[in-house]
Amino acid sequence: MSNKYSKIGLKAGLEIHQQLDTREKLFCSCEPKLFKGEPEFTFLRRLRPTQSELGQVDSAALFEFHKETRILYEANNESVCLVEMDEEPPHDLNREAVEICLIASLMMKAEPVDEIHVMRKTVIDGSNTTGFQRTCVVALNGEIDIKGKKVGIQQVSLEEDAARKTGKDGQLIRYRIDRLGIPLIEVTTAPVIYSPEEAEETAFAIGRILRATRMVRRGLGTIRQDVNVSIRDGALIEIKGVQELELVSKVIENEVKRQLSLLELREELKKRGVKEADLAEEFVDVTPVFKNTKCKVIAKAIKQNNPVLAVRLRGFAGLLKKELAEGMRLGSELAGIARFWGRVGGIFHTDEMPAYGITAEELNQLGKLLKKEPMDAVVFVADKPENATDALKAVTERARVALNGVPQETRAANPDGTTKYMRPRPGAARMYPETDVPPIQVTKGYLDELSSRLPELPEQLMKRLMKEYKLNQKLAKQILDSEYLELFESLAGETKVSATVIAVALTETLKALRRDGINVEAVTDGQFMGMFRLIGEGKTAKESIPEVLTWLAGHEEAGAKEALKSLGLGMMSRKELEDLVDDVIEKNSEFVELRGKGAFGPLMGIVMKKARGRVKAQLVNEILKKRLDDTIA
Ligand SMILES: [Zn+2]
Repeated sequence: MSNKYSKIGLKAGLEIHQQLDTREKLFCSCEPKLFKGEPEFTFLRRLRPTQSELGQVDSAALFEFHKETRILYEANNESVCLVEMDEEPPHDLNREAVEICLIASLMMKAEPVDEIHVMRKTVIDGSNTTGFQRTCVVALNGEIDIKGKKVGIQQVSLEEDAARKTGKDGQLIRYRIDRLGIPLIEVTTAPVIYSPEEAEETAFAIGRILRATRMVRRGLGTIRQDVNVSIRDGALIEIKGVQELELVSKVIENEVKRQLSLLELREELKKRGVKEADLAEEFVDVTPVFKNTKCKVIAKAIKQNNPVLAVRLRGFAGLLKKELAEGMRLGSELAGIARFWGRVGGIFHTDEMPAYGITAEELNQLGKLLKKEPMDAVVFVADKPENATDALKAVTERARVALNGVPQETRAANPDGTTKYMRPRPGAARMYPETDVPPIQVTKGYLDELSSRLPELPEQLMKRLMKEYKLNQKLAKQILDSEYLELFESLAGETKVSATVIAVALTETLKALRRDGINVEAVTDGQFMGMFRLIGEGKTAKESIPEVLTWLAGHEEAGAKEALKSLGLGMMSRKELEDLVDDVIEKNSEFVELRGKGAFGPLMGIVMKKARGRVKAQLVNEILKKRLDDTIA
């Protein structure tokens, strides 16, 4: 496998972001906690960076600014104060967060800096009320071991998390600022990863080290990966927001495929003799073609007095529907770019026609107006004139770039491991000093003290899990890679349930439930503890774990006792079990007569099924044997 990737010159690097489990946010005393439901208050802003800031803003940021987007920030009082609202300067850097970063850095053999300086990194997409993100380098030049290979850790930084986007209404974007200011550690590897598997192993290894600090948050969205991918003759592509470690290799595989396909596309266009001059920004108003159209989107646009504009892509017939990689086509790439630059809902193109109620006759007329030859494709957009024009400009430019291969860009990861166009790649020089926050000295004495009390490294932890809790290697590794290490240890220490049962529940059972769409992240530590206590006390059997967890996931205020009651999963009394056994024997009396003692196995199965989760197998065994002997005698 890695041979295949070395042949094409794959190089990847990772940026892992993980929220830290601090008591307070990075620059204020708010609780780092996300709220559900309606916001307690909102405020509207339009970002207007000053000229001096604009001087250092790259083209992507400048563009965002020009869009003149208005932003509605949603907040509550518990997790937001004047600092997040940018009405008050940031407080001093959170020392607890600094310490966690230093500990993680030392565990990755990185060299802490002498002085930590907070910098501002321009982000004008509204995800920050200030227009920048505060970030500081904590350590440099570390390394971790991946199957005998040293993977360099270029940098460990401490950053404030951004606000989270909760919606978009045309030019109005909604952000929730409860997440803004939650401390994040950012670990950046050198681009020395040469296969998708190696990238995934590296991501897991870093995740394990971060969790081994025991001071990181858990749950969906608390860890996010950015991946940089390039291949020979391709381009350096930055993919943002891979939410799960398991997806890292898939995202890279897909990106490699996409870049290889774009290189093939370049050759195909060369073969077809397409030149840059063939792809001109000549947009034709084709509104009359669609005056009686059955296509809802176009009809609606025309009704609002908007035009349908079209552009011919010389020599592109059939290429727009070509699959570049799983779920990604050139057509969808063009649509992504049109959405970004033209703020349109989407595009139509002739490779996917006839469809959406557009008829062959309409296409025929469209083709005539555009002077379309059989080898040409036509892209058309129905929107406000300026938006449709911007969209087609971007589409034409992207088609021209296809003649050269792979364009540099920033892409966003989808939950299924595919990616989509996000924005152009930002240039350098986006940082300037944050003068409101004083630097922090990192003394040798402090580092020596931290070094003397570093947490166990993942390797040591793994050995201890196997020895102390008698877990097999597979389970120990699963616990290490799960977010439940801490919980596992407290459950194993404080309940009478076997460590293996707990480990299986926290890994395999949760994984299976998650696959079935159960929101297991909602189950709290207290609920887990309650459930395992009841199992340990013999109030229910371990077989009821999946059902109890499913119930608890949907009842955040309730406890395990209520789950058992509601599910009817409390342990059966001896009398109840005896009655059940008698009932089963009676209903199967002919079978018992026929098979004698040989009926035991099948009857045991029937009783266990009926009493699932409410009995111990041993007791069923004992009672059934006795009753069966009595019946036969
Ligand atoms: Zn605050």
